[in-house]
Amino acid sequence: MYDIIIIGAGPAGLTSAIYAKRASKSVLVLEAKAYGGQIINTPDIENYPVAAHISGFEFATKVYEQAQALGAEFVFEKAVDIRDLGDIKEVVTESNVYQAKAVIIATGSENRKLGVEREDELVGRGISYCATCDGAFYRKKSVAVVGGGNTALEDALYLADIAEKVYIIHRRDEFRGEDATVKSLKERENVEFVLNSQVVKLNADKRLESIEVLNKDGSTRVIEVKGLFVAVGRIPENQNFGKVVNLDQSGYIVAGEDCTTNAKGIFVAGDNRVKNVRQLVTATADGAVAVSEAVKYINNL
Ligand code: NAP
Repeated sequence: MYDIIIIGAGPAGLTSAIYAKRASKSVLVLEAKAYGGQIINTPDIENYPVAAHISGFEFATKVYEQAQALGAEFVFEKAVDIRDLGDIKEVVTESNVYQAKAVIIATGSENRKLGVEREDELVGRGISYCATCDGAFYRKKSVAVVGGGNTALEDALYLADIAEKVYIIHRRDEFRGEDATVKSLKERENVEFVLNSQVVKLNADKRLESIEVLNKDGSTRVIEVKGLFVAVGRIPENQNFGKVVNLDQSGYIVAGEDCTTNAKGIFVAGDNRVKNVRQLVTATADGAVAVSEAVKYINNL
């Protein structure tokens, strides 16, 4: 029996582990994949206080090591269910059942697909969801990035240093991501903005050869690219928890800034909850808040 089980070892989960250990609670962190969450795909973090530049991987590794040093236990198993038995919560993984007084769900989100025909078939053969992982394969080649959020903008900037040409394709003419990054992209000679446009077709034999883009005005354009980096947002990874906590219509866990859910003793931290600003700094902040509420809850049991 643990005091707190944290589901997910991204920035929110790892920060929760640090705060919970510092509150002298026993902590188990369950992670389905590898520690770090989506931030490990960010090449260069420039907006987190203290470091002007740090890679997502280095950031995640430092926080993981900090949580481990404080005594948080880590088990790499996927949580598939939470059973709310009142004062005891059971977290069911694919191979075990763990018990705790409180649970923090910090599962983050996964890549949203474009939904274009042949997208799945061409993953690894031209289609990628991770510029830092796959960008180096496209040295001196033409690539495109789809999306208008920070991920797409940062990916395009990263790829502009590697690829011969980078097209940034966005369905509107305004970006959701930061103005400063848009400005940096505009200064790059090898970056072309393709706005008010959607990718509608992938042309490939064995590998991606070109993409067809449909403009809002009805015109189409074929762009020759060897790589298409899809950065069209994320889907919250709450599919297994909809029975115990309320989700909104997009699948995010309904919770306010105090990170408490409708289920007593079950908390949420990070990108998988309803919130306005999904940033590294707000994910880590959620970790601190969720633990503070969890500790209050446990101490009142
Ligand atoms: P996002 O902000 O949700 O942006 C997704 C983008 O994809 C939007 O521009 C959206 O267009 C577009 N889109 C969605 N579905 C599409 C479709 N089917 N076809 C074409 N375009 C589509 O996602 P994100 O960029 O992955 O960022 C997720 C969160 O992480 C954000 O809060 C972001 O600020 C944060 N983030 C932070 C950092 C950092 O702190 N350094 C780095 C990366 C990401 P519309 O704009 O038209 O809706």
